[in-house]
Amino acid sequence: MARVCIIGAGIIGLSCAYSCALQGHTVTVIDREPERRDGCSFGNAGMVVPSHFTPLAAPGMVALGLKWMWNPESPFWIKPRLDLELARWGFHFWRAATSERVRQAAPLLRDLSLASRTAFQQLARDLGPAFGLTEQGLLMLCRTQKALDEEQETVVRARELGLAAELLDARQTAQIEPGVRMSVVGSVYFPQDCHLSPARLMAVLQERITAMGAAWHWGEEVTRIESSGSTISSVVTTQSRIAVDELVVCGGSWSPGLASGLGLRLPLQAGKGYSLTLQNPRQLPGKCAIFHEARVAVTPMGSSLRIGGTMEIGGLNNTIDPRRVRGIIRSVPLYYPEFQPSDFSDIRPWFGLRPCSPDGLPYLGRPEKYRNLVIATGHAMMGLSLAPISGQLVAELIDRRKPSTNLSLLSPDRFA
Ligand SMILES: Cc1cc2nc3c(=O)[nH]c(=O)nc-3n(C[C@H](O)[C@H](O)[C@H](O)COP(=O)(O)OP(=O)(O)OC[C@H]3O[C@@H](n4cnc5c(N)ncnc54)[C@H](O)[C@@H]3O)c2cc1C
Repeated sequence: MARVCIIGAGIIGLSCAYSCALQGHTVTVIDREPERRDGCSFGNAGMVVPSHFTPLAAPGMVALGLKWMWNPESPFWIKPRLDLELARWGFHFWRAATSERVRQAAPLLRDLSLASRTAFQQLARDLGPAFGLTEQGLLMLCRTQKALDEEQETVVRARELGLAAELLDARQTAQIEPGVRMSVVGSVYFPQDCHLSPARLMAVLQERITAMGAAWHWGEEVTRIESSGSTISSVVTTQSRIAVDELVVCGGSWSPGLASGLGLRLPLQAGKGYSLTLQNPRQLPGKCAIFHEARVAVTPMGSSLRIGGTMEIGGLNNTIDPRRVRGIIRSVPLYYPEFQPSDFSDIRPWFGLRPCSPDGLPYLGRPEKYRNLVIATGHAMMGLSLAPISGQLVAELIDRRKPSTNLSLLSPDRFA
C-alpha cells in the first residue's frame, strides 16, 4: 500500500482522500487553511448536475464575455489586465470555444456526471443523510421566449446524449414547483440533477476520512516539492517534511503555483463567485433552479435558501465587488416576485474561487514528467458535482489500474 499525500482539503482533495483510504492506502492531507475553513467547496450552490454537459468554453462565450465586460453587474466578467498567464488562458479559451470541442466534451461530461451522481447515492448510504442529498431535479427558468427557445435546443442535445430533459410552459413549471411563485415564460426540467448541502458534505466526509486513519496537516502551506529524476520524494511545508510514494495535487485555484514548482504548466484562472444564504426565505422551493438570463443558481438547503452566481476572472484576491453581488440580488425578484432586494440587506456575501481551466474541463491524470504524481483540479463550475468520480479515478490511477473512464481529454499535459 502506498503513502499518498494530498495537497488541498477542498472537495476534490477530500474525495481523493476518501477513495484512496477505501483502497487501504496511507493518506495524508495538507492544507494551508486551518481546519475551520470556508473556501470554494463550502459556500457553493451544492448542485449535482448531469445537465451541465456543455463546458464554460462554448461557442458564443467569447462574444458574451466581451459584451459583459462593460457591465459591472454582469454574471461573467474578465477583468482586463496586463498578465501573460491571463493572455495565454484567454487564447486557449478562445481556441476551445468551438462546436467541435463542445461536441467532444459533452459525452465525457455526461459520463462523469452520471457516475458521480451514482457515487453520491452510494455516499449517502455510507455516510448517512446528513448532507441532504435531494434527488428532485433542476429547473432552468426562463423569463423570455428567446431564452426558452435556446433551452429547447439544449433539450434536443440532452436527449441525444440519453439524458432526461422536459420543456415546460409557465403553467407546467408552476405545477412542478408549487413552493414558490415564479415569473417565467417556461423552463426546462432536468430530473436527474440533485442538490445537497456542501458544508455538511465536507464535514461528514472529513469525519469519515479521519475515522479511516488519515493524517491532517492544517495551517501548513506547501512551499516545495522535492524530486529526483521522475520520482517525487517528499513535500515540504511551512512546518513539516513529508515523505511520499504518491502525490496528488488538488490545490484548486492555487494549483498552477504548485505545478510550476515541478516545471509543469497548468493554465488556470480563479473564477470568483458569490453566494448569499437566506435563513428564513419568504418561500422555499423544493427543487434547485438556475435563472437562465441572469446565470444565477438557487438551492434550497434544509429550511434555508442559497442564491449564488457570477464568474469573475479577476485574479487571486479576496475582494468582494458589491456591484456584482447587487447583480445577483436584483435578479431574484425578477424570477421569484415574492422576494425583495431588502431580504438580503443583512446578509454577508460569501465568495469562492473556482479553479477554471481554459477549456472548461478538469485536469485529471498523471503528467508524463513524473511517475508518481497525479493532478486533480480545474473543475470550475462542476467541482462539487464531479468530486466523487474524480476521487475514484484518482484512486484507480494510484492503484495503477486502467482508469474506468478514458482520461485523454483531461490530460494535465494538454496545454504543455
Ligand atoms: C458561487 C459558486 C457556486 C458554485 N456552485 C457549484 C455547484 O452548484 N455545483 C458544483 O459542482 N460546483 C459548484 N461550484 C464550484 C465548486 O465550488 C468548485 O469547483 C470546487 O469547490 C473546487 O474544489 P477544489 O477542491 O478543487 O478547490 P478548493 O475548494 O479551492 O480547495 C483547494 C484547497 O487547496 C489548498 N491549497 C492550495 N494551495 C496550497 C498550498 N500551497 N499548500 C497547502 N494547501 C494549499 C487551499 O487552501 C484550498 O483549501 C460553485 C462555486 C462557486 C464560487
